Amino acid sequence: MAVAAPKKPQNNRKNTLKTIGFVVSLFLIGALFFGSSSLKQSEYKKDVLTYSEFVQKMNDGKIKATEQTGDTLKVQLKDDITKSVDGKDVTGSKFEVSYPSGIELTNDQKIDPVKANLTVKPPSGSGDVVWGLAQLLVPAILILGFFFFMMRQAQGQNNQAMSFGKSKARIAGNEKSKVVFGDVAGNEEAKQDLQEVVEFLKFPKKFESVGAKIPRGVLLVGSPGTGKTMMAKAVAGEAGVPFFSISGSEFVEMFVGVGASRVRDLFAKAKKNSPCIIFIDEIDAVGRRRGSGMGGGHDEREQTLNQILVEMDGFETGVNVIVLAATNRADVLDPALLRPGRFDRRVNIPLPERKDRESILKVHFKNKPADESVNLKALSKKTTGMAGADLANLANEAAIIAARNNRKTINNSDITEAFERIAIGPERKNKVMTEKDREMTAYHEGGHALAGHVLPNSGGLHKVTIIPRGGTGGVTWFLDEEDKSYHSINEFKDVLVRIVGGRVAEKVIYGDDWVTTGAGNDLQKAAQLAREMVIEQGMGKKLRDQVFHEDEGGMMLDRMVHSKPYSEKTAELIDKEVEDLITEATSRCEAIIKANRKALDNIKDQLLEHETLDEKEARAALKGAVAPKSVVLN
Ligand code: ADP
Ligand code: ZN
Repeated sequence: MAVAAPKKPQNNRKNTLKTIGFVVSLFLIGALFFGSSSLKQSEYKKDVLTYSEFVQKMNDGKIKATEQTGDTLKVQLKDDITKSVDGKDVTGSKFEVSYPSGIELTNDQKIDPVKANLTVKPPSGSGDVVWGLAQLLVPAILILGFFFFMMRQAQGQNNQAMSFGKSKARIAGNEKSKVVFGDVAGNEEAKQDLQEVVEFLKFPKKFESVGAKIPRGVLLVGSPGTGKTMMAKAVAGEAGVPFFSISGSEFVEMFVGVGASRVRDLFAKAKKNSPCIIFIDEIDAVGRRRGSGMGGGHDEREQTLNQILVEMDGFETGVNVIVLAATNRADVLDPALLRPGRFDRRVNIPLPERKDRESILKVHFKNKPADESVNLKALSKKTTGMAGADLANLANEAAIIAARNNRKTINNSDITEAFERIAIGPERKNKVMTEKDREMTAYHEGGHALAGHVLPNSGGLHKVTIIPRGGTGGVTWFLDEEDKSYHSINEFKDVLVRIVGGRVAEKVIYGDDWVTTGAGNDLQKAAQLAREMVIEQGMGKKLRDQVFHEDEGGMMLDRMVHSKPYSEKTAELIDKEVEDLITEATSRCEAIIKANRKALDNIKDQLLEHETLDEKEARAALKGAVAPKSVVLN
């Protein structure tokens, strides 16, 4: 963009006054436009209230008003609350909550417009055209005016004020917030791999003198929340070098060409600060494989990606900048990114195993007073599949629950509640169930529990409850053995039986035309599992040992398309196999339930009486139940 240099002023004094007047009036106009919207925004505290807490507050009738704009909720509570965030107490009644779009919410996770006193505003840009235009124009005028002013001041000098293309990279690494490997629990293997990077940064000469090429890019691969960002920061911390970070998704947010110039700026900054680390989070946002589909080649993403490649190729020797990039999907990355000299090293940051989960929990409970009932080892057993961030969140939720109950220490029931809330949504205490509902739910959950209890391959029965949670009537929990990922076909089949157990129990008790509303989720789960067995595990009858891996889909004209590596005929066959698996599971389950009607009635009574049974109580209630010989697989 070029701005013509203004002529030299004739009368300096008059001119300065005029300029000041001009700038002041610009700011006044700006203040008028922004005063009502932008300034108020900052009253709403961000990243304090989670969506599930918001829903809880809504159900408790604690909300004065809610304003929704796109995915942002501005929530005003009736009373002030205090919540501990990152160890600091935050007090207030106005919070910004992000709405979890893209996730299917169950009915009671949705916003109740009456309870939340909801007003919905159109996201800027779609609604009022004049307002939208004004919002676009005023900042532009302001910025232009400001530039104009600057140019007058700095006549003749080179103008540096154009910062459209400047990267928003953040630099971190001051002593206080320094992260080191010791702060990252577990992940020993990744630390070892990255130790090498630390050495490169610390002693480049050592490697150069023997002719070793220092790696340019390292890809950190792992699910969200496994600590990739933390790990990258720790590399910088260990090496004592600056850390520049930017997220791939930030590149894609503005006009065409801006992404590329941000990349250029980021690398320039980094080179000036060499040795240092550049961290690109979510690199898949810009680095997805190009040319799949017909989206036309020259979009913003592609330009940004190209610029990254150009910069990485252009590192001269002696420049000691290492680029760490994080993704959870290495398979979708453009092969050009992975070539030698670019991201040719790869460090996996897997979901933590039992032991690592325990040490992560220890880290996050370190500054939280917990009483002796808290058993982190037991908790680590229950949290299979959770990432570090989930565990951190769990620790925080537990602290919130303790604080809400006006206690100074966290106890085990806070932790249990936090765990269950994170896993299935907040408990609905005030939902009234009719007696019939309760009985039906007790039979349903009893059916799950019975089937799981008598079958040898279905994992550990953990807890049964008819207290409604999230979207379900009740819950039966099974904890599968430690982090097992491999399942034999018999295990799969037994798990399928316990999944249909709820519905089959209802059917046996209430008859065939009994329609239940609570079992929809179960059926979906059963279908999903059966499909996985056939398609991915090769466990179909006719399709035994054939695997049909569906790709993750690609973008074509802005729509996701999945290519199926099999014909329509095979697709039919697959559907049939899935149906057969479910039919088989259903009939095995029916046999189990009919043979153990007494045990089912017993656990139903126990559930109606106590509402929640732990493993011991549930197994006691099911005492004497055995699977008929005909349904046991070996
Ligand atoms: P990612 O970048 O992989 O999405 P982050 O590095 O942002 O994950 O992790 C989010 C948070 O989760 C961290 O700030 C930290 O509190 C917690 N966390 C994740 N992994 C670990 C770990 N191994 N040890 C301790 N805390 C962890
Ligand atoms: Zn169920």
